[in-house]
Amino acid sequence: MDEARPRLAAVLGNPISHSKSPRMHNYWLKQNKLNGYYIPIKVELEDFEQTIRALVCMGFSGVNVTIPYKLSALEIADESSRTAQYIGAANTLTFTKENKIYADNTDAYGFINNIKGKYPDWNPKKGTSVVLGAGGASRAVIAALLSEGSEKIIVLNRTIEKAEALKKDYDNKITVESWKNINEVAASSSNIINTTSLGMNDETFIAINPKAIPKKALVSDLVYTPLETNLLKMAKNRGSRTVDGLGMLIHQGIPGFEAWFGQKPLVTEELREILIK
Ligand code: NAP
Repeated sequence: MDEARPRLAAVLGNPISHSKSPRMHNYWLKQNKLNGYYIPIKVELEDFEQTIRALVCMGFSGVNVTIPYKLSALEIADESSRTAQYIGAANTLTFTKENKIYADNTDAYGFINNIKGKYPDWNPKKGTSVVLGAGGASRAVIAALLSEGSEKIIVLNRTIEKAEALKKDYDNKITVESWKNINEVAASSSNIINTTSLGMNDETFIAINPKAIPKKALVSDLVYTPLETNLLKMAKNRGSRTVDGLGMLIHQGIPGFEAWFGQKPLVTEELREILIK
């Protein structure tokens, strides 16, 4: 590696202007005094694969991919991690010296490490985890919980067929319940995790009775705008422990940064402040 030449990485999506990843990775580059750049690239569906291959040829170290390219990213990879295969989607691509594409999914890593960073005593093996949602983020959370040894995972989704499909893909290791049973199911849980987009921008919220949230439960929300969602507010008022989505976003960026720029970055309060602005 020519050390005088900056290392390059990017995030691809559509839309992309809202992405916090450039601010985060460029903060880490500065913190670690590394010679590199991380840029946002908006790409149309028909140009996705061609753009990735061009970035490989241009000597980029790798990229993050976000909505709507997480499935395509896995499909075009030459090799992929077991986690990405299990989830069926990739958010981090690393380009090898041989110009091959290696796909990983770091959302599961981000989810677990964020909670453990905040609550080191949290034990995912204990009790029942209730996962709201059955989209891409839900798949990552369930993969994470299963790999941590969670034995009881209940998934609720507005479209129950999607939750049933997820159950099949995960070898019946999870239970599916109807969305309308949210209060009963939540009441006996140790962990409640919102992986739906409900709660974003305060326009929508999860219709759960606050009294159904057990005081002893740990409540996580993957939504990070706003930082304190309606669900987290209710949980805090109940006296439950809460975890916001910004921490997961930061933690999921760590493996990519380390692979592309060669240093494990730190999660700091200063970084959180920069990303909240
Ligand atoms: P997705 O695949 O499109 O799934 C969306 C999920 O939200 C589905 O379960 C969908 O239910 C549900 N949903 C949407 N509108 C709903 C409504 N009005 N009522 C009930 N359920 C509704 O999206 P995703 O990639 O999983 O992302 C979900 C959220 O997680 C987004 O807000 C995203 O920003 C966030 N996220 C955060 C991180 C992080 O690092 N913090 C990482 C990944 C994702 P149906 O199946 O019924 O449509």
